[in-house]
Amino acid sequence: MRAEGALPPASKVEPSKVEPAKAETAQPAKDLKTIEKEYKVVAGKHKEEYEKYKEMNKAAWDEKDSKTRVAKMDAANKEKDRILNQYSTEDKPNSRSTYHKELANKLPEEQIRSELSQRFGDGVNKIGSDKVREVYASVSHNEEVIGKSRFSEIVQKIEVAPLKGRRVAAYSEKTKRIVINSNKAELKGWDAKDEDGTRFHPYAGGSPTKAVIDHEIGHAIYGAMTSGSGKISRVATVFGRDGVSRVVSGYASTKSKELAAECWAAAMNGNPNTVVQYVAGLMKG
Ligand SMILES: [Zn+2]
Repeated sequence: MRAEGALPPASKVEPSKVEPAKAETAQPAKDLKTIEKEYKVVAGKHKEEYEKYKEMNKAAWDEKDSKTRVAKMDAANKEKDRILNQYSTEDKPNSRSTYHKELANKLPEEQIRSELSQRFGDGVNKIGSDKVREVYASVSHNEEVIGKSRFSEIVQKIEVAPLKGRRVAAYSEKTKRIVINSNKAELKGWDAKDEDGTRFHPYAGGSPTKAVIDHEIGHAIYGAMTSGSGKISRVATVFGRDGVSRVVSGYASTKSKELAAECWAAAMNGNPNTVVQYVAGLMKG
């Protein structure tokens, strides 16, 4: 912990002066209409294929001969896997995420803490040195995507405090604050895959903290949406629990708001598939 007055005179480094050598400019984002068109094709194909799988599955259950039934079940399950595995995203980090992380790594920690505490309160000083740069990278990346003024409206405080349960972090819509769980130091393994797909916060490039903060900012964006949330619920209906687990993450299949937050985290860290792009696109507006 440090008091605000105890900060050494920071030799302020302008972020523009420490541009990483390979700084890429933001790629022209696809507009929402284009993404929506692509999504509709993907969703239509998914529905059709999944109906066929369900018929195969039903036919297997109806089969009287046990040996044939096992073979039919097997074929149906293989077809289901084939359908759901079409959406796995390329495991390549998002270039803007890399850019913001490299930038944060080049800034003095004192400057990062000073900038963050001025905007989000002294609570940021409790964030450990191992995580504060990723929090900074998440903030600057999200501001780039949704704009500084919109960001400032939905995230006003960042703190470290104890949280109940298994949560690593949380966002409160009422107080517009992100709380990082002081009881939860470890984030390792959060992107581990199980048989249903990735469990939490899909990201590429090994930055669990940034992905978690991006997820919480995703909640903030979703909570402030004035239109489009119905379309996000319909994505969950079209793809179902199994589908959302593979296409986005296991956690995304639990609630619409988690689907939104997970898609946001996925879009901010990896190279998103069409479904993730669509949900994130609706959120971005
Ligand atoms: Zn969440």
